[in-house]
Amino acid sequence: MTRHRRHVLVVGNGMAGARLAEEIRHRDPDAERFAVTVVGEEPHAAYNRVLLSTVVAGGISPRDTRLKPDGWWAARHIDVLAGSRVAAVDADARTATLDTDGTERVVTWDELVLATGSTSFVPPTEGLYAGSPGPATPLADGVVAFRTVDDCGRIVEAAESASTAVVLGGGLLGLEAARGLLARGVDVTVVHPQDFPMDRQLDADGGAVLSRVVRGLGARLVLGRLVVGRHAPVDGVSAHVVLDDGTILAADLVVVATGVRPRTDLAVATGLDVDRGIVVDDRLATSFPHLHAIGECAQHRGEVPGLVQPGWDQARVLADVLTGADPDATYEGTSVLTRLKAPDIDLASMGTVDVDVHDPGHEVLAFTDPTRGRYAKLVLRQDRLVGAILLGVGDAAGALTQLYDTGSVVPRDRLSLMLGRAITRSGATEAVNLAEMPGAAVICRCNTVTKSAIVGAFRAGAETVGAVAEATRATTGCGSCKGAVDGLCSWLRSSEPAPTPTASPISSTPEPVPAAAALTEGAA
Ligand SMILES: Cc1cc2nc3c(=O)[nH]c(=O)nc-3n(C[C@H](O)[C@H](O)[C@H](O)COP(=O)(O)OP(=O)(O)OC[C@H]3O[C@@H](n4cnc5c(N)ncnc54)[C@H](O)[C@@H]3O)c2cc1C
Repeated sequence: MTRHRRHVLVVGNGMAGARLAEEIRHRDPDAERFAVTVVGEEPHAAYNRVLLSTVVAGGISPRDTRLKPDGWWAARHIDVLAGSRVAAVDADARTATLDTDGTERVVTWDELVLATGSTSFVPPTEGLYAGSPGPATPLADGVVAFRTVDDCGRIVEAAESASTAVVLGGGLLGLEAARGLLARGVDVTVVHPQDFPMDRQLDADGGAVLSRVVRGLGARLVLGRLVVGRHAPVDGVSAHVVLDDGTILAADLVVVATGVRPRTDLAVATGLDVDRGIVVDDRLATSFPHLHAIGECAQHRGEVPGLVQPGWDQARVLADVLTGADPDATYEGTSVLTRLKAPDIDLASMGTVDVDVHDPGHEVLAFTDPTRGRYAKLVLRQDRLVGAILLGVGDAAGALTQLYDTGSVVPRDRLSLMLGRAITRSGATEAVNLAEMPGAAVICRCNTVTKSAIVGAFRAGAETVGAVAEATRATTGCGSCKGAVDGLCSWLRSSEPAPTPTASPISSTPEPVPAAAALTEGAA
């Protein structure tokens, strides 16, 4: 008797949607129980959006960002429709209307997952749009938002002829864009409306140190100001922007990095509950049966994630629920860490940081060294690290991040803690103990690779950072975990018998990505 295969239709071939398809196949490898279709508006195979800043900086090409090699999806019976948009959903009939270059067709589904991500928010400032401001209006020539691989291509192309650029927004993306443009020889000014950059992740003291670091790299930073107009070149006057105090800044290129908005248009049209994002419960269910949402479009317990890790955690839980691998699985939230990906700015921010040093409910440790661009703030509650800002503190950042991730009790000697070192019984200091770190500790944040996965890969023969990267994808995101992976490999080499190359990895993390491959698969 042939069993009915349930059809999961995933709307959005971004980081969460692609990961969900992969997670479902992991639980149904022969596609016996589930047909999976991923529909993506972008005309590309799924790629790692996190790496786009590195593309702007010239470290890698767009081809290197592709999540899987050609043929990977088809070989796993995952139907990828790139260059197609889901234009409408009928929740009662369980159908969706797909629009591919103006040609519509209707498909049926059993479970539908919205993974529509976000779009860049571009303020309705004079001169930024090619027409009257609105989501459907293209941006003016010389103005680029920073969200997709195509945006990235536009920035890189414009940087070839631009000698000046103004970046709107001094958040994570704005600073990464600025760093990339500086590396391409462009004279860059970042305009940010608050008193210090990355104000959502830093406090005023940390922000002041970061400002100094950014300026030291050669970027101009204009704080507490807004751009009120942008003017294209005309009659011998170069392109420029005007600030709210009348200042004029030359701007052959304007990069907009003023935040994102969850893409909820389809959910609204379908009649789902939508607040800031599509409202979901702990099982990632929306307000309609058989309709789910994950990633940046979803609002869970009031939070809309702006980072990739929550979307990937949600994909894992939803795959468990949909396939029945763990029908009771729930998503409880993700403790996120923000890391600035610029080779010469080592900055991480995690948890609760906006706490005064004298707050009675917390213990706050702070270290400020503006001259050398260093700042550390640790927020403790009940002897556990619940938040930190770590700027320019090198090796200590890795150890402190592990303490935060694992919720371990911190060393009693707070000075040693600031240095990322623990006191042993003998009184000597040592790096936070790799042996005692739990297997579930996340070493690579971008790819959610745990210590267990790395140990498994090592035992299967991956003894170097490069080999671990190939086996688990650890270090292939922002690359900031390279030191930790190297440390783990050294520790394993010294504490384990020689690995048996034939042993199979115990990792359940997704498969490796080739270093360079064309970003073409699935193109319409
Ligand atoms: C330059 C840059 C750097 C970043 N750096 C980091 C970082 O260091 N760390 C981090 O954690 N996060 C980072 N992020 C954020 C991270 O990329 C996002 O959190 C992540 O991509 C969200 O995944 P998602 O699948 O929810 O959305 P997306 O990756 O945006 O995917 C959504 C997809 O759905 C498609 N879509 C939307 N509507 C439809 C429709 N109706 N039909 C078909 N397709 C549709 C969209 O075209 C898009 O391709 C960065 C983002 C950018 C832009």
